[in-house]
Amino acid sequence: MSKRDYYEVLGIAKSASEDEIKKAFRKLARQYHPDVNRDDPKAAEAKFKEINEAYEVLSDAERRRQYDQFGHAAFDAASGGGAGGFGGFGGAGGFGDIFDMFFGQAGFGGGRPAGPERGSDLRYDMEITFEQAAFGLETEIQVPRTEECTACRGSGAAAGTHPETCPNCRGTGQTQAVQNTPFGRMVNVKTCERCRGEGKIVRTPCSECNGRGKLRNRRRIKIKIPAGVDTGSRLRVAHEGEAGERGGPPGDLYVYIFVKQHKLFTRENDDVICEVPISIVQAALGDEIEVPTLDGQVKVRIPEGTQSGTTLRLKDKGIPHLRGHGRGDQHVRVKVVTPKKLTDRQRELLTEFARLGGEDVNPEEKGFFKKVKDAFGV
Ligand SMILES: [Zn+2]
Ligand SMILES: [Zn+2]
Repeated sequence: MSKRDYYEVLGIAKSASEDEIKKAFRKLARQYHPDVNRDDPKAAEAKFKEINEAYEVLSDAERRRQYDQFGHAAFDAASGGGAGGFGGFGGAGGFGDIFDMFFGQAGFGGGRPAGPERGSDLRYDMEITFEQAAFGLETEIQVPRTEECTACRGSGAAAGTHPETCPNCRGTGQTQAVQNTPFGRMVNVKTCERCRGEGKIVRTPCSECNGRGKLRNRRRIKIKIPAGVDTGSRLRVAHEGEAGERGGPPGDLYVYIFVKQHKLFTRENDDVICEVPISIVQAALGDEIEVPTLDGQVKVRIPEGTQSGTTLRLKDKGIPHLRGHGRGDQHVRVKVVTPKKLTDRQRELLTEFARLGGEDVNPEEKGFFKKVKDAFGV
């Protein structure tokens, strides 16, 4: 009988690490466990057996080494050439280990009787303005969530009644069936179908929640967003998530902040950046201008001879630091605007201005052209 290569069975490379072997095995074992393959259990069982065998060998450093050296022959000899080469497999110990591995995990075929479980966390995306991010706000949001039914306090049983212990599983939430298979005794543990693993059944359901013990609600929740948040900030509101299961605590609510773009301001960390246009005359002669800030208009002195692109700093006019005291600064980037349309008189004056400057109309520009010459050797 020809056997498939163990590495091929698990779909891994010969160089796979212990962790990769384990991962590949778990994935395949879940996929082919006879319990979850009700439509073709025979085929699934054969596949499951093959996967187990490959894992038994490859997960054991010593046996893996032997296999790498001698292939399947290594174990045919060890087991006296047993049918199908099943040496070392089917022993209670080996199988038990695999079983523990499955059923120790939630969500796979049941296992322990279901206990209290914490509710899921909820995410709420919230868009706020630039100013709200800077100074914080208190507001109310509406969060759709699952809550414990207040009428039955989550039990699902009508007033005056109580949930009863499930007679099918006697409250354990699971049923067991012992099966003899070609590779040993197999205990099938399944979630009880009668109570769906709860261990309890409700005979007279609560009329408010139809016995579910929970209700969907749109809950208004007050939140306080601190000053200084930015896009990507995350606010945790404890215990305002989904209701827990079987008396477990609720999850948390996470508010994710998205800050809208501002018409005038951009943000760099806690500094506010803003560009202000001035005329060439203001730039040349200096002036006092009004600049918008988060705190309103502020008078700013433009010094004589200001260049386009110059940045003026307004200390403490930025965004409050989220943690700790103080604020960032505002940077006013000055942009000198060259006039596009000139009247005849303006043109006349500018020409006059140029003539007065003579050759030295712009010493810096001369320096620039000298640099160009130096750079290109022209
Ligand atoms: Zn109820
Ligand atoms: Zn049950």
